[in-house]
Amino acid sequence: MRRKFAAGNWKMNGLAADLAELEKMVAAKPAPSVDTAICGPATLVHRMAALGWPVGGEDCHAVASGAHTGDISAEMLADAGASYVITGHSERRADHGETDADVNAKTRAAWRAGLTAILCIGETEAEYRAGDTLDVLHRQMAGSMPEGCTGENTVLAYEPVWAIGTGLTPTRDEIGAVHNALRDALIERFGTETGLAIRILYGGSVKAANAAEIFGVADVDGALVGGASLKADDFLPIVAAL
Ligand code: PGA
Repeated sequence: MRRKFAAGNWKMNGLAADLAELEKMVAAKPAPSVDTAICGPATLVHRMAALGWPVGGEDCHAVASGAHTGDISAEMLADAGASYVITGHSERRADHGETDADVNAKTRAAWRAGLTAILCIGETEAEYRAGDTLDVLHRQMAGSMPEGCTGENTVLAYEPVWAIGTGLTPTRDEIGAVHNALRDALIERFGTETGLAIRILYGGSVKAANAAEIFGVADVDGALVGGASLKADDFLPIVAAL
């Protein structure tokens, strides 16, 4: 009942010339039964959206407008044609000191503007080694996920920080255990219907070579893909594996 979803995250990559990759993705016409999106740099969102591929921003400010030099609001992203925005990516949490409370506010800002939030949580390598993964994830969920999450307005992305951009991934069993625990926590907090409707993506070193294996794990509803979303030849096989 949950539609599979492959979302790309271009991070601080992408110049006008790179729109050619998105044009290739559009031309390949992924199966209508799955959802796709590329979250791109704010400078490209408008042009990406104009190509007819679902687009997201990578961050938004909590308020709609005002004296916040350099920031982008969820309303601006929606106005530029975005339908999604990533909130709480670990690079934002680490580089910009974003707290769970900040992520919570940004997620509510996304909803206010009619965007679906792709809300990221994940443990660091030290937390993983200490066996604290589930504690960390439960704490991040409790703080970052606002009341009112639904299967339409929120997608949860589990991204172990140590797996991002490293080529390392948890084992199938580890991913399965985490996603299962996250599903239980969603049901407990939001009720059975909503808890079963919210999609849980895995993110961290997903590529064509491991996508099918990861998508075969129970309760993995798709992926948030960084490096392998930059090129159509890398991203399209991941979409095809959904
Ligand atoms: P990666 O990044 O696929 O390059 O590991 C994932 C992410 O940060 O969303």
